[in-house]
Formats: sequence, C-alpha cells, structure tokens
Amino acid sequence: MKVFKFGGSSVANSTNMKKVKDIIVNEIKSNGNELIVVLSAVFGITNLLFQISENLKNNKGIENEIKTFKDKFSEIIEELLEGNFKKVSIDFLNQIINTIVNVKNESNNITKREEKIIVAQGEIITSFIFHNYLLQEGIDNILVSALDFMKINQEREPDYEYISSMCSQLFKPGNLYITQGYICRDENGQIDNLGRGGSDYTASIIGAVLNAKEIQIWSDVSGIYNNDPRFVQETYTVNYITFEEAAELAYFGAKVLHPSTVLPAQKKSIPVILKNTFNPYSAGTVITNLILSEGFKAVAAKDNITIVQIKSYRMLMAYGFLRKIFEVFEQYKVPVDVITTSEVSVSLTIDDDTKLDDIVQELSSFASVEVIKNNSVIACVGYIPKNKPGYLKRVLDLLDGIPIRMLSYGSSDYSITLVLDSFYKREALNRLNKLFI
Ligand code: ADP
Ligand code: ASP
Ligand code: MG
Repeated sequence: MKVFKFGGSSVANSTNMKKVKDIIVNEIKSNGNELIVVLSAVFGITNLLFQISENLKNNKGIENEIKTFKDKFSEIIEELLEGNFKKVSIDFLNQIINTIVNVKNESNNITKREEKIIVAQGEIITSFIFHNYLLQEGIDNILVSALDFMKINQEREPDYEYISSMCSQLFKPGNLYITQGYICRDENGQIDNLGRGGSDYTASIIGAVLNAKEIQIWSDVSGIYNNDPRFVQETYTVNYITFEEAAELAYFGAKVLHPSTVLPAQKKSIPVILKNTFNPYSAGTVITNLILSEGFKAVAAKDNITIVQIKSYRMLMAYGFLRKIFEVFEQYKVPVDVITTSEVSVSLTIDDDTKLDDIVQELSSFASVEVIKNNSVIACVGYIPKNKPGYLKRVLDLLDGIPIRMLSYGSSDYSITLVLDSFYKREALNRLNKLFI
C-alpha cells in the first residue's frame, strides 16, 4: 500500500484535478490498485472558511464569502462533471453550504467547536467532487471519511490504537481509496483538525499505521529546496535528506512539509517522497534514514519569533532555576524552540505569544525578564558532525556584519540555529546560500 497526499494547489481547479487524476492512473497502471489518496481542500478555501467563522463570531455578514465558496466549487463541478455525477455534487455542495450557514449553536454563538465544523468543510467537499470525478472517468475508488478513523486524544496527539484499528478495517489492499487530510475527531468524537497544513500529517499517520511502502506528498514544488524559494532566487531541490534533517527544516520554516509529518514515518522507516504535481517526472526529495553525504543541505527560516530573556536575581544560577523557568512555559502549554544560556541568564524563543503577558508576569516573580519581538529563526541543516571543525565558522563568516541575537549549536549533528532581527532575514538567507557551493 502507498499513500499519496495532494495539497491545495494540486486540487486548486479542474485543470489541476485532471493532473492529479493522471498521476493516480499512472501509479495504478505501474503498481496496481494499492493506493490511498489524501486530499487537502481546494487552494484558499480553508482560509475562506476561517474568514466565514470570524465573520460569524463578530456578527458580520458572510454572503460574499459564501458566494466565493459556491462559485469556486460550482465552477469545478461544471468543468469536471456531467450527468448524475454533476447532480450529486451540486446537491452535496448545497448541503455543505447549509451546514456552514446554519452552524450556530443553541445560544446563537460560534465557539471553537463550530469553527472546527466550518473549516472541515473544505476537505469534505473537495474529496467528494474528486471521488465523483474519478468514478465518472471509470476509475473505481472508495471515498472514506477521515472522520471515521482519524482521532486525536486529550493531548491532541493521534490516538494510534484507534486509528490503527479503524484503518485496518476500512482500507483493504486491492482498492483505490480517497480520503480527507487535516480533519479528525477529538476524544469526545467532535469534529477537529490537525492544525494548518495538517494534511501532510494525515498522510504520514495513515502510512505509519498501515505500514505503507511509501508516502508521497505532492505539492507545487519539486521537493524540499535548499533555501526558501520565496526569498532566494537561486534554489534547487535537495534530492536526498534524512528524517532528522527534514524535521529540522519543516519545523523551522520549510512550509512544503508539515513539521509533524516526519515522526510517524520515521518510526516505521517509511520513505517520504516530496513530488511536484506540475512536474511529476522530476525526482523531488526522498526522505529516509540513510545518511548519504556530509555537509550542509538546506536552510529554512521561521518568522514572528519572540525572544524571552530571563536573568536570575542571584549572581550564579542556582540549581532548580531552569526547572522553574520551564515549568512556567509548561503550565501555559507554550513550546520553547531555541535556548541559549550564560552563567546567570537564559534566552529562549517561542512562536506562540498569545500567553506571553501571563508568562512574563509569572517569570518576573523570580527573575528579571526582557522580551524582544519580530525575530526570525534560521536553521542551517545537514549532516554536520560536531567533531569536524569548520561548519560553524562557515556560517558565521557568511553572516559577518549581521547581528545575531542567539546561536544554538552542538545539541545534534544536524543543525546550527540562529535567531536574528527579521529585518536581516532575507539578507541572511541569501548569504547562507553560499553554504552549498
Ligand atoms: P500544499 O498546499 O501542497 O500543501 P504548501 O503551500 O503547504 O503546499 O507548500 C509548498 C510551498 O512551500 C511552496 O510553494 C514554497 O513556496 C514553500 N516553501 C517554503 N520553503 C520551502 C523549501 N525549502 N522547499 C520547497 N518549498 C518551500
Ligand atoms: N486545508 C488545510 C489548510 O489549508 C490543510 C492542508 O492544506 O494541509 O491548512
Ligand atoms: Mg502544505
């Protein structure tokens, strides 16, 4: 069994959906009917659904947004489907629109719960239309609702026991399946999701529980590039990369892969292959356990990073100081990313600053605290063993003259991580492109 995931741009319109169909047909021709296809929502639709939810919360109208939603899917249906396939899809679209328009609860309110119902509709309608399109083209396939097998627990982690048992009942070898990425149920059975960009994660979870041969993530780029193509002109595909390296890149900004995707596949040693729907024959990136070469492979950057600098009131750091600090972040469930320490102070970064005021207040009871906003983390990733000199020097030489606010090196053999004012990000990424020459 293989799992193929197609992102929003791959199903953005009828032309692209035809390309996705061709890729699936090709796969079935070459390797037989052993495929689960995970689909995201049509490009832009999840954002639109969040906007609808926001408007409803604020008692604003949603007519324009609903019209955009309806027009987008009507156009796809019109261009792709005929006869009964068209009729059932139009009916289903109207049903979905009804769900959205009438989602308010008994108190006429929109809470997180209603929001989650709204934002799930993009994947639901997209997969329904695509399933019908394949049927119309004579390609047998079974539509399975992710809400019937994808579940998270109280910690918002996948409930692997449940998912595994449901997936083995629902997915049998010898068939082509279509299902939705991103959406799931919570521990109480309510509709939930795996977070923005979470369809990649869906594919990886399914692949892991079914011991898939391979997980392919199809998007609009040919794999993981050595640098962020949105800020650096001369980039190229990194053909082979390890799970560790891919995880660092995804976590620190390479949007092409959702950061949680790596772990389920890595645990089962299932290769993850990133491919381009619009250039299906380009090799893309293969992620495995194999370390094929030493040196830097790629850099990635993440914005909106907040630095929290915590200085102990005592001269030397007494034991227990670090524990006290991290307990505060744990209490507010805010993940800490980069950490550096000196004799009396600790600097750390967070990218979720919604609880920042409370955190600062708590920390201030035992330390002095300074907050610096608008930073970017840049991760220089590759196989760069600590016992080999020169890697750090190369990074610092290239960044000469750019102020670096934090530097983290030595905790793994896979990355050097820097934090700097976002103002310098583009310049830094462009200079670091020389790491690969
Ligand atoms: P999908 O909708 O298919 O999930 P995404 O938009 O989530 O696709 O991810 C693909 C985008 O990721 C690309 O269009 C590209 O702009 C961006 N991206 C950022 N960093 C990288 C990188 N290092 N390599 C490839 N793409 C990247
Ligand atoms: N449609 C969802 C989003 O836009 C999930 C995904 O695309 O992976 O975040
Ligand atoms: Mg994505």
